[in-house]
Amino acid sequence: MSKKMPETPLLDQLESGPWPSFVSGLKRLATSEGKPYADYMKSLLGQLEHSYTTRKGYWKGGTVGVFGYGAGIIPRFSEVAEAYPESSEFHLIRIMPAPGFFYDTKTMRQFCDIWEQHGSGLVTLHGQSGDMQFQGCKTDQVQPAWDKFNAMGFDMGGAGAGVRTAASCVGMARCEMSCYDTSKLHHDVINASVDDIHRPSLPYKMKYKFSGCANDCSNATQRADMAFLGTWRDDMIVDQDEIKAKVKQLGRKEFINQVIRMCPTQALALNDDDTLDVDNKSCVRCMHCLNVCTKAISPGNDRGLCLLAGGKRTLKIGDMFGSVIVPFMPMNTDEDYEKVVTLCRDFLDFFAENALEHERLGEMIERIGLVNVLEGVGLEIDINMIARPRTNPYVRMDDWDEQVAKWNERKAAAAE
Ligand code: SF4
Repeated sequence: MSKKMPETPLLDQLESGPWPSFVSGLKRLATSEGKPYADYMKSLLGQLEHSYTTRKGYWKGGTVGVFGYGAGIIPRFSEVAEAYPESSEFHLIRIMPAPGFFYDTKTMRQFCDIWEQHGSGLVTLHGQSGDMQFQGCKTDQVQPAWDKFNAMGFDMGGAGAGVRTAASCVGMARCEMSCYDTSKLHHDVINASVDDIHRPSLPYKMKYKFSGCANDCSNATQRADMAFLGTWRDDMIVDQDEIKAKVKQLGRKEFINQVIRMCPTQALALNDDDTLDVDNKSCVRCMHCLNVCTKAISPGNDRGLCLLAGGKRTLKIGDMFGSVIVPFMPMNTDEDYEKVVTLCRDFLDFFAENALEHERLGEMIERIGLVNVLEGVGLEIDINMIARPRTNPYVRMDDWDEQVAKWNERKAAAAE
């Protein structure tokens, strides 16, 4: 006889809002009659309600893995297993996503079938890490489930203090704004770091994320230690006929309100004949006008990427955006892509040698100074590298020794 559905008055409240509720998803799995995971999910709902009642989490870690890998499984053992025995183990398997999150429906069905057979049926596409997260699995089912995912051609994602699973936006495959091939770079960088993903050996995690333009659809600036944003360095391309059509569609007044006045640097002007003038030197690539006038305004022809480093959530010194490390790298040839892969390896080696335990790249840069990091990885200092507008985190190094000697002289003179 199947297990009784637990009373969940607190969880039920989470179904009352206008948005889809994860509680409804859990209940659907719990009431899937005849499915092997139905009792598993009922027990999980009971434990979750208990957590909401006592305001405490009851999952603890442990050691669960698969042959040949040191990461990728997040073990979850319940501290209240006596009361909720069916869900006493609820491990999570991280599987690396396809770059750009491209899957065909046959692949998705295969994933679902495997997880219904070996796990809870609960899948997260995609977790904050970028991985496909297969949630809820008993210890003895982890290896058989993984063997099937692996046979499909998928690899285990990252966990712990190592290179984490990367994420990329849809990129050139479907987006006209993309300034480089995000899927290719994602694939190349990850393939060069596979060992550091599967066998964590760094002071802490390192995340790479790839966005094809400054719209940053993979949220790289906020989330990634190394963020790759597509950009261009020549003039943006303006199709004046399309501009005229857009002005006609919106009306001059609305076009001025929605496009011209929204430019943060006042780089745009609408002429009397409904053509557009762009002061490209003033443009800061905010992407607003390109997003509103998709056919009329496009990135320029000289495309590449801008590399930012140090983005992350909270930890020691609060949330940080990445700051610009390389303002522009052309991305036209295979060699250009290889250069980025090499730079990632250089950053990784420097991070491995210099970061403290549990310290992210951005925190290490704050601690030792960006100038030392740039010297360590062999990058030139560039005037475009700023931490925030109107500040500059750098010092001139060219006549540094002479300046120090002069400063010491002045100090000695003042002391006399
Ligand atoms: Fe202005 Fe942004 Fe358009 Fe550049 S991309 S011209 S800054 S609105």
